[in-house]
Amino acid sequence: MESKDNEFFRRELLALKEEVLRDAETTADVGAIKVKSEDLPDVVDRSSMETDRNFTLRLLDRERKLLKKIDEALARIENGEFGMCETCGEDIGRERLAARPVATLCIGCKQAQEEAQDQQEKA
Ligand SMILES: [Zn+2]
Repeated sequence: MESKDNEFFRRELLALKEEVLRDAETTADVGAIKVKSEDLPDVVDRSSMETDRNFTLRLLDRERKLLKKIDEALARIENGEFGMCETCGEDIGRERLAARPVATLCIGCKQAQEEAQDQQEKA
């Protein structure tokens, strides 16, 4: 990966990170309102609120995981490993990285991984 590409992806990743953090804040706010309204003595609605809260927590969990991936990608840019497939060591490819800058696998390895997961789910 050329250094100008590194700089491009570093900026992409930082922008993505800001976006995720903003989303996470919004999600957390919604979650806070839900938790508050749970104090209401309406038992009937409690289970649906519980579900909403679980949904919020799941969303935040997903955002946390994505933030971790972004940080890892930024670290790979720092140590010059960005854009290299974790499995086969080949170039992931600029086009794929532009669509998904946190990708750690080339398209071939990604497909192989997904097929393996499919097999596991069917088993
Ligand atoms: Zn690969």
